[in-house]
This record gives sequence, C-alpha cells and structure tokens, in this order.
Amino acid sequence: MAINWGFNIARPRAVDMDANDLSITRRIMAQMPEFQACIACGSCTATCTAGNLTSFNFRRVHTLVRRGEYEGAYEEMGKCMLCGKCRLSCPRGINTRGLVMLIKRELEDK
Ligand code: SF4
Ligand code: SF4
Repeated sequence: MAINWGFNIARPRAVDMDANDLSITRRIMAQMPEFQACIACGSCTATCTAGNLTSFNFRRVHTLVRRGEYEGAYEEMGKCMLCGKCRLSCPRGINTRGLVMLIKRELEDK
C-alpha cells in the first residue's frame, strides 16, 4: 500500500543533451560560430521590439534551439520584425537578426 506523505518527488528538470537531437543546432553553430559565445544575458529580449508587442521572448527561443528543442521555435521566430535592435545591444556582438533568419531557414522543413 502506497503511503501518502503529502508531497511528491518532482521529476528532475535537468536537460539531457544526449537525449536531444542536436543535428539542426550543429548546422546553425557551424554557420554562425559566434552564437556559441551567447551568455544568455537577455539584452536581446529586453530591447526586442516584437517582445514589447507580443509574447515573443527571443532569448528563451534561441536557448531552446541550442538545447535541440525545436518545437514551436519556427512559429515563434515568425514574430520577429527583423528590426535589428537586438544586434545593437548584444554584448557578445552576435548577429542576432541574422540568427533569427538562420534559425527560420534551418527549421523551415522541420
Ligand atoms: S544579447 Fe547576445 S549574449 Fe545576450 S542573450 Fe541575446 S544573443 Fe545571447
Ligand atoms: S530583430 Fe527581431 S528579435 Fe531582434 S529586436 Fe527586432 S524584433 Fe526583436
């Protein structure tokens, strides 16, 4: 008989990178190596024009893509207005606007 302790042990939320299919991520990284320098600071999201008008969160989406979690990423990237403001604020000098287009191109057929 199961004992009710009044709490459950939560499933770990750690990301198992070995379990994810990283093939598209590798292709993106090969074409834009500077993306590896992203420190997930969120400046791109804080300055994002589309993020002010919609639920678009650029850092969240590109972080998921780096983890090999592509579901919904293409649709989310479609909210980007390609204004380029995020590129001006990135402390790592990543071509974030180009990254949006690259991710969309790579995920197009997925
Ligand atoms: S601003 Fe640059 S370094 Fe910061 S989360 Fe965005 S892409 Fe990464
Ligand atoms: S280019 Fe896209 S992601 Fe970057 S600030 Fe403009 S709308 Fe946001």
